[in-house]
Amino acid sequence: MERLKIYVAGQWREGRGDEMVSSFPADGSVNARLKMASLEDVEEAVAAADLAWRAPSWRKTMPHQRAAILYRVSELILERQEELARLQTRDNGKPLAETRGLVASAAGTARYFAAACEVLEGELPTQRNPDVMTISTYEPLGVIAAITPWNSPIASEMQKIAPALAAGNAVILKPAEATPLLALKLAELFEEAGLPAGLLSVLPGKGSIIGEALALHPKVKKISFTGGTRTGRHLAHIAAEKLIGTSLELGGKSPTIVLDDADLEQAARGITYGIFSSAGQACIAGSRLFVHQSLYHPLLTRLAELAKGLRIGNPETAGVHMGPLINAAHRTQVARYVALAQEEGGRVLFGGEAPADPNLSAGSYFLPTLIEGLSNQAKACQEEIFGPVLVAIPFNDEADLIEQANDSVYGLAAGIWSRDFSRAMNLASQLEVGTVWINTYKTFSISTPFGGYKESGLGREKGANGIKAYMQQKSLYLALNNNPNLWSD
Ligand code: NAD
Repeated sequence: MERLKIYVAGQWREGRGDEMVSSFPADGSVNARLKMASLEDVEEAVAAADLAWRAPSWRKTMPHQRAAILYRVSELILERQEELARLQTRDNGKPLAETRGLVASAAGTARYFAAACEVLEGELPTQRNPDVMTISTYEPLGVIAAITPWNSPIASEMQKIAPALAAGNAVILKPAEATPLLALKLAELFEEAGLPAGLLSVLPGKGSIIGEALALHPKVKKISFTGGTRTGRHLAHIAAEKLIGTSLELGGKSPTIVLDDADLEQAARGITYGIFSSAGQACIAGSRLFVHQSLYHPLLTRLAELAKGLRIGNPETAGVHMGPLINAAHRTQVARYVALAQEEGGRVLFGGEAPADPNLSAGSYFLPTLIEGLSNQAKACQEEIFGPVLVAIPFNDEADLIEQANDSVYGLAAGIWSRDFSRAMNLASQLEVGTVWINTYKTFSISTPFGGYKESGLGREKGANGIKAYMQQKSLYLALNNNPNLWSD
């Protein structure tokens, strides 16, 4: 078992806070121990970050020099892909096949924002006055607080660090309590790639103490947050009071819709992946299934067959589809939603409980679950369960379907399954969500913006403009003659 240090202002040292443990969700064995950051560590990290981003040596780095650091980090990640994927699996229990993908995605993100940094351009607005030329340019914000959840650490952390550093800022990363390992590994890789000291600190710690202190700190100029809607709303209040910007990537309750002309097999496989991969612990999980009445029974029969074929087990074992949930408390909460659904009249068609296999008793496993017989108003249809629980609702009328799909406080994503693209596109335009997948689900591209409508978030990450989310725009006016300003006639 390893004892880890935290990374404060370019120094590896013990945190000055309480003890924290990273354990393997499959059996509770301890991966590593460390002392969390304290409020003094926050002060030190923020002070160093503020000096580091203002330092002429960093402010004057040319884009290709900043990009070189990110390109190097991307290479280092790929060189160590297997080691990092295994570490991520130990930290949060996701199967290796998934964590390998997350690690590759983090490398891609670093590479993409290296390129974005090199090609970022200001603008020369149309000249309206022949005597004055204007230039629109972009500058860094300063110190960025990046606060992340436990479900996809390396990917969501790189999604914040890479554009923020590419834009010339300094970053303080506060990973989730349950998953500190990859954030600390990323700090090692950035250090090895030559990032100047102070520009990145990693402060594992409690959200209510360390996250809160970072958000409130007067020198922090943006809060980039991924996590639950309740925490996001709280951070938005803090940001409003300070008049600083936020990026909020929050919860979801995404509808996935099967029209009567869908390819049933394609839909069944996509829906299975959309809800049961990551054991449903995904903000974008397709957790509300609306199926046209004509396909309802055949589709549900096929979903039951596919769920039966899913291998549940130790996430380090090859071929496993579903690992455990993050911890026992979370499993209890997921089970509570299933019980609540039954009280509200729902029928569990499969799953609904922990697997009986005694080999799995040490982890917080939960079977893939399908519930029917609920209205869209039921709690299991309105609240984010963040587990492998799918609720199926039949529909006949498309107008009614759209109303139900949009009847949610969330608006993160949706899936549509149809052979008719114009029909699907028309439906997509009526869904109040930030991402719509048509005949696919949970596929991602770093060059395509991501973010939520409604209570699923504010702002967008990724895409060519992702770097500008960490910059502020400045306008310059240049007189083209020596005339004094006109004051009065
Ligand atoms: P959470 O909101 O409990 O915690 C997220 C992070 O915020 C953690 O690092 C936590 O320590 C910190 N935090 C908690 N209280 C804080 C406070 N008062 N001040 C500052 N920081 C604080 O969320 P979670 O349970 O870790 O993650 C699951 C949630 O994340 C789900 O709702 C999921 O949908 C959401 N999520 C969203 C996306 C997205 O891109 N939209 C991606 C992944 C997860």
